[in-house]
Amino acid sequence: MKTIGILGGMSAASTALYYDRLNTQARARLGGLHSADLLIRSVDFAEIEAMQASGDWDDAGRALNAAALGLQAGGAEILILATNTMHKVADAMLDGITIPFLHIAGATAAEITEAGLKRPGLMATAYTMEQSFYTDGLRAAGLDPLIPGPEDRAETHRIIYDELCKDILRKDSRAAYEGIARRLAEAGADCLILGCTEVGLLLNDGNVPVPVFDTTRIHCDRALDMALA
Ligand code: GLU
Repeated sequence: MKTIGILGGMSAASTALYYDRLNTQARARLGGLHSADLLIRSVDFAEIEAMQASGDWDDAGRALNAAALGLQAGGAEILILATNTMHKVADAMLDGITIPFLHIAGATAAEITEAGLKRPGLMATAYTMEQSFYTDGLRAAGLDPLIPGPEDRAETHRIIYDELCKDILRKDSRAAYEGIARRLAEAGADCLILGCTEVGLLLNDGNVPVPVFDTTRIHCDRALDMALA
């Protein structure tokens, strides 16, 4: 089994989900006492969030590049960046990286296409929903993404940063997310991308009226495919 390098901490709440998913899936696939072979570099999310908020994406790219190089030097054989939003600076992060990198949007688009679906609703941070770096990637993969309206985008973003990234799970926020997902389905989405690695804390196949594609689950499962290939 190859060593998966996880560049995480964005947020720590979602990196915990990665750790759990990768290990339970390694045991499910290999049996016995197997667990995933992992190297985790978990950054201080307050520093990254400050760079996001001030639009300082170049510095963020440099910081993530240093962290990614550290994972590579430490023995990681596969690299994953455990946040959708920071894929905005994936090119800068990958400078000098020679190990294979699994892009979260590419992995997600592949699963949606395999399922025969085409028009995913996207719930994510405002950066991921409103800037082109993510939706362009989905379009390049042949999909036709649909984003929530302005109020629903603001609420989706607020709940991620004010609650989910701090391990706060609220019933009213779950209900708000269910409403946003329902409105996307009513507007024509044939599936829903949980395009933020914390959103699976509130939404899943049980409370969304269309098939759910959780980027955290997909990223982990595809990374494990690579590690075991
Ligand atoms: N984990 C989130 C994502 O998947 C948001 C936190 C961040 O901005 O990195 O986009």
